[in-house]
Amino acid sequence: MGKQKRILITGAAGFLGSHLCDRFILGDYHVIGMDNLITGELRNIEHLFKLENFEFYHHDVSKFIFVPGELDYILHFASPASPIDYLKIPIQTLKVGSLGTHNLLGLARAKNARILIASTSEVYGDPSVNPQPEEYWGNVNPVGPRGVYDEAKRFQEAITMAYHTFHGVETRIVRIFNTYGPRMRLNDGRVLLAFIGQALREEPLTIFGDGSQTRSFCYVDDLIEGIYRLLHSSYVQPMNIGNPDEITIRQFGEEILKLTGSDQELICLPLPTDDPKQRRPDITKAKAILGWEPQVSRNEGLKITLEYFKSLSKMEIEHKDF
Ligand code: NAD
Ligand code: UDP
Repeated sequence: MGKQKRILITGAAGFLGSHLCDRFILGDYHVIGMDNLITGELRNIEHLFKLENFEFYHHDVSKFIFVPGELDYILHFASPASPIDYLKIPIQTLKVGSLGTHNLLGLARAKNARILIASTSEVYGDPSVNPQPEEYWGNVNPVGPRGVYDEAKRFQEAITMAYHTFHGVETRIVRIFNTYGPRMRLNDGRVLLAFIGQALREEPLTIFGDGSQTRSFCYVDDLIEGIYRLLHSSYVQPMNIGNPDEITIRQFGEEILKLTGSDQELICLPLPTDDPKQRRPDITKAKAILGWEPQVSRNEGLKITLEYFKSLSKMEIEHKDF
């Protein structure tokens, strides 16, 4: 039997980070989770604390990072991800995408580890091309409210590529499109959570703008499988991972009402500045290179997600502090 591989996962207590911890524990890796808990919750990973092959470091990755021992892989997932979060903590968002990524690339270089960084469909901004292929350079407003996230992620991609080119670090870049599933925070403001929370509290669903903007929602298990395959592939250019099944936000609201059996209505609120009008991944590369495509339909994924949120206490569902 070979030596157990060691992997550092940043953002481990968050939605995606915690699912990645589970996936790599399942694959018999030694997992080191790191998080400063700014938007994450320890309960997402508390089931791992009793395991010998899991360690947790409470640390801000924008500050110098020390990890003893060898590392084979690093997954950099630490960053606020919902517009509500990154508008509340814009400077930390810029720092974790820039300084945090720099620290992790330095660590990868020092440990001779392969590093995969979590980029986003937001690098395409408000796209003028639909679906978005990886070659599209994007349409981002650097000084608009979303710029703190979008530009941090664009810088993150640039410095990652530079470490690959100039230092020969083994890098991977995943561009993640809207992903959902259990362990998201009901009050983090992302549309699925807003709608499910509102339906469970028997409030009207808030549509921003006229609801004609589109998104394409990917179930978390599909995304995690795509990331697992990308990490183990030899592909160094950015790769889209997402579900191309595109839907308008109004249709999505109607789906949530039907799914929850709610008789509430959809009400329209002003559209936030620079809200992308359309978003749909072109996954030609993921299909050809990783043999990956999503397996879970929106209907199936939403049912699982709804069951998770229904299992939360009533107090948690009532609590909306954004
Ligand atoms: P999340 O908020 O649930 O998780 C992020 C985690 O990072 C949290 O646990 C938070 O406490 C931690 N964190 C933030 N700043 C940190 C710092 N400086 N040091 C240490 N830990 C820090 O968000 P998520 O949805 O799980 O997103 C994870 C990653 O995936 C992010 O990089 C995000 O940009 C990217 N992403 C997510 C989506 C999505 O749909 N969920 C889409 C595109 C990209
Ligand atoms: N949205 C909405 N109502 C809400 C929250 C969000 O209509 O209560 C819209 C938002 O304006 C955007 C889409 O839903 O067009 C997806 O928003 P989200 O914050 O989930 O993520 P984004 O894809 O914009 O980063």
